[in-house]
Amino acid sequence: MKVFKFGGASVNSVERIKNVATILKGYKDEKLVLVISAMGKTTNALEKVVDAFYSGNNQMALDLFHSIKQSHLNMAKFLLVTTYNKTLNDLVNFFTEIEWLLHDKPVKSYDYYYDQIVCIGEMLSSNIVSAYLNEAGIGNTWVDVRDIIRTDDNFRDANVNWEVTNSNLQTCSICTSGECKIFLTQGFVGSTDENESTTLGREGSDYTAAIFANLLDAENLTIWKDVTGVMNADPKEFEDATLIDKLSFTEVIEMAYYGAQVIHPKTIKPLQNKKIPLVVKSFIDPTLPGTEISSKHVKDLPPIKVVKQSQVLIHLRSQDFSFVGERLISRLYKIFEDIRIRPNLIQTGAISLQVCLDDRTEKIDQLAIAAAEYFDVQIEKGLSLFTIRHYTDEAMTEMIEGKDIVLTQKTKETVQVVYR
Ligand code: ASP
Ligand code: MG
Repeated sequence: MKVFKFGGASVNSVERIKNVATILKGYKDEKLVLVISAMGKTTNALEKVVDAFYSGNNQMALDLFHSIKQSHLNMAKFLLVTTYNKTLNDLVNFFTEIEWLLHDKPVKSYDYYYDQIVCIGEMLSSNIVSAYLNEAGIGNTWVDVRDIIRTDDNFRDANVNWEVTNSNLQTCSICTSGECKIFLTQGFVGSTDENESTTLGREGSDYTAAIFANLLDAENLTIWKDVTGVMNADPKEFEDATLIDKLSFTEVIEMAYYGAQVIHPKTIKPLQNKKIPLVVKSFIDPTLPGTEISSKHVKDLPPIKVVKQSQVLIHLRSQDFSFVGERLISRLYKIFEDIRIRPNLIQTGAISLQVCLDDRTEKIDQLAIAAAEYFDVQIEKGLSLFTIRHYTDEAMTEMIEGKDIVLTQKTKETVQVVYR
């Protein structure tokens, strides 16, 4: 059995949904789990509905929701024939659920409403895609993922209860019976034991797919994307970006740590634990092999480049000119933990420290205030952080060319510079 995840870009138009069917025709007789995201930018549009609703602007929320409804209705109209009426009925039920809520006054937390509203994007898209595939001869059964993935009530970043999720999955007859070759469900969404919808964090569908792969001992997980695979740099920033055909799980975790937006970071662990390979493949040209990520160590990787914008450098100097030792360092880490902020780079000297962080203004202010108890604090904003893993002399020369470098840090595998 294989798990396929189709992201928002792969189902954002009539042609692209038809393309999903074409891809699946190449996997006849396979048992498949399909995890489908919300179409295109639907999640962003739904976030605006939540904002309007929560700020008390019910009419605006309803108007914004109306255009989301319209685009899904159009999609269904263009794609469906024999299943149109049944699907229309399902879609209207989802719409009614949301509209009913949007007439209310918010009495619970923002995050709670966010999850109740935003999850509908995946419900709508998976419903339409499932109906279309059935019409196209790719028989599948639609499963509401909220009946499977159980989470806590940490809305917008819910934690999965693996035990209950596993038992839900094992007792789901559609999911385990040999009769149903394909079951199609949603990513990103779960539910609490009180049947409230939850979400797993933006871009969380990759993670959902990994959960299914893990619990069903899948042969592999394929994430279908609009790129040819994992590149060694962002092609929008680096013209010479190239495809990496093989990567290890550890390398992908390292890349994510340095800020590469390859795959949702939570995706790796469930796969690594069961040694299930992850394939990142192009839905535009499925004949291309893509990138295979597995537990095998990969040698001779090209330089992998990651640039993070909007960085802040905090210069800290011990107030009494004492050495920066374990006492000051542990205080500083305690502050990071309390504020829940993760430094991207730390460099220590005898009496001073420099810390590079993402510019999340509110947190940076809190950090500066807390650190001022032990250090003299100076803040510099508007910087960038450039990391190269597996650097070469050539890559490093290119990295620093024409830049006003503020700080450099180098280990055997990785070089990082902060620049203005
Ligand atoms: N639709 C959600 C998002 O856009 C989840 C996902 O696509 O992974 O973040
Ligand atoms: Mg996505």
